[in-house]
Amino acid sequence: MTFPLSRLKVGIDVPWVTSWSAEPVTGVGACLTTPGLPAVMQASRPGYGKPNYSENHHYRQRLSVQRMLCPMCGQPTQKGDRWTLTAKRKTAGTLRAQGLGDSIPSDLADTRVVIDAGAIAPLHKACAEASAVQCPHLSADPALDLKTFALRWMISPLLVPTDQPGLPPVVAFLQLCGITDAHDRR
Ligand SMILES: [Zn+2]
Repeated sequence: MTFPLSRLKVGIDVPWVTSWSAEPVTGVGACLTTPGLPAVMQASRPGYGKPNYSENHHYRQRLSVQRMLCPMCGQPTQKGDRWTLTAKRKTAGTLRAQGLGDSIPSDLADTRVVIDAGAIAPLHKACAEASAVQCPHLSADPALDLKTFALRWMISPLLVPTDQPGLPPVVAFLQLCGITDAHDRR
């Protein structure tokens, strides 16, 4: 099956992190974004076929979190220009209660406020503002809230089971959580 080059431009019309129909999942393998852990691998042909807006590309998503690349344009974000639209403020205690405590430093108090960005790396402010207008999914979200990301963060693997019995789960995506200096003492 061949996939023609789309008229839609990656990083302009379609987020850089979005998966395309020309990019099938190819299996499990070693990935530089997940040292020591096997990961879901996917063909890389962004811009060919049709964008699957609801699906992140496995490798580009992991790279965006690991290297702080803007998911919209794919370029590095710098300290002072890292923004989120959809991240939720929680406490470290809430994350631990959700079973996501493995990546939280043990010296972080349960009251410490964290910014759960899910699988979405911070964007440049200009990219965030453009996405909020252009993306139908985002522009329909009443909870949309442009705010700065944190100066420190932690990354945890989002694991999926393999279809082969007896093998351990593999990394599908990376989850990102910012660490603030604030405490929630309610
Ligand atoms: Zn950007």
